[in-house]
Amino acid sequence: PDVLPGDGGRSPGSGELVLLRRIGVVDPLSLDDYRATGGYTGLRRAFELGPTGVIREVLESGLVGRGGAAFPTGRKWEATARQLDRPHYLVCNADESEPGTFKDRVLMEGDPFALIEAMTIAGYANGCTLGYLYIRGEYPRALKRLENAITVARSRGLLGDDILGQGFSFDIEIRRGAGAYICGEETAIFNSIEGFRGEPRTKPPFPVEKGLFGKPTVVNNVETLVNVPHILEMGAAAYAAVGTSSSTGTKLFCVSGTVERPGIYEVPFGASLRDLLDLAGGATGELRAVLLGGAAGAFVRADELDIPLTFEGTRAAGATLGSGVVLVLNDTVELPGVLLRIAEFFRDESCGQCVPCRVGTVRQEEALHRLSKRRSEGDLLLLREVGQAMRDASICGLGQTAWNAVESAIDRLGVFTAKESS
Ligand code: NAD
Ligand code: SF4
Repeated sequence: PDVLPGDGGRSPGSGELVLLRRIGVVDPLSLDDYRATGGYTGLRRAFELGPTGVIREVLESGLVGRGGAAFPTGRKWEATARQLDRPHYLVCNADESEPGTFKDRVLMEGDPFALIEAMTIAGYANGCTLGYLYIRGEYPRALKRLENAITVARSRGLLGDDILGQGFSFDIEIRRGAGAYICGEETAIFNSIEGFRGEPRTKPPFPVEKGLFGKPTVVNNVETLVNVPHILEMGAAAYAAVGTSSSTGTKLFCVSGTVERPGIYEVPFGASLRDLLDLAGGATGELRAVLLGGAAGAFVRADELDIPLTFEGTRAAGATLGSGVVLVLNDTVELPGVLLRIAEFFRDESCGQCVPCRVGTVRQEEALHRLSKRRSEGDLLLLREVGQAMRDASICGLGQTAWNAVESAIDRLGVFTAKESS
């Protein structure tokens, strides 16, 4: 079945949805429905502003990346647009694979034209003539709806040559992933599109200088891009007025686990974790912990629910917002089993290119297996040493974050330590 926003998927306070406003309301196959609900107003505004004007709006909106790393989108666009080397490419990272993350799927399935419009605006601002949409292979419904949206947009002069008679030509090609988590890493996507093994490249150089086919490339996550038409429609100042000064706008959260109403919720940045859980009907049973930010994220305790859901707020609390995962765990969940599953996932998905991650993820899983049977100071120490080596010396984010959740479970929740009974 279609994944729809959670029952209470609305912003506390204003009650207004921005990113989810069309989901479950319009026919995702209909361009007319999309236009009747404000679709393509953003692109028209982009043509009025010109490429530098669009980038200025995005900079002033304060939009930061929603894939997990929160890099300022306007800075990325500014850096790509000024490169003299041509052509420039756009890559939409739709390889959503972080465990517990399903927000991009909801956007692509429920509002596919929004992503096509957003990519066209990004292509215009960054001087790209071609955009690649790299979609997770396990998202067949989203793929079909995007293919339809691209075909319809082309037939109506919204993609292809001379879009809306503005002298701008841009098209989109879809590439499907084949099940590897690592292919969501932006430089592994380049290798995958180019026909090579999906392994990350070392950064720098960053893609803004040397990306797909060695050319300047702007890479943005689906949710990041889908914010852009709204920014142009409402204006940067109005957009930046929502949320906090460092985390502007609204954010989609993927609420799952032992919770009354799992689903996607859109809230303004700055709402607390408690507000979000209230929207989702609260935990079923007694809340034990929440995993924030996915497998690469961190656990927070039941007494830490006042954490503000902002990039800066979660960072200050020693956690992370990541891609918006909120995995709720009640006291019936066996945490060592959850940690083992996470470790197994990273061991499985490591591309094996660099030693700290290739060996570290295996050692981490082995130590967790032993610890789940018998407490051992030696294995706790080993986990820490291996974790630190992965964090310091791995090439990409997978290895650098593979120990985060385990570390937080030990340090914040007391798993495997004397104070923990489970
Ligand atoms: P990163 O911090 O290396 O980079 C973030 C973005 O900013 C990249 O596009 C990078 O090219 C750009 N960037 C960074 N410094 C730059 C500079 N000086 N100049 C120009 N551009 C610059 O992070 P990353 O490794 O790309 O991503 C890690 C994140 O991915 C994690 O936070 C994790 O939560 C997230 N993630 C998400 C999913 C998902 O399914 N959504 C899956 C896995 C990981
Ligand atoms: Fe591959 Fe892991 Fe190294 Fe990333 S950190 S390049 S996934 S081996």
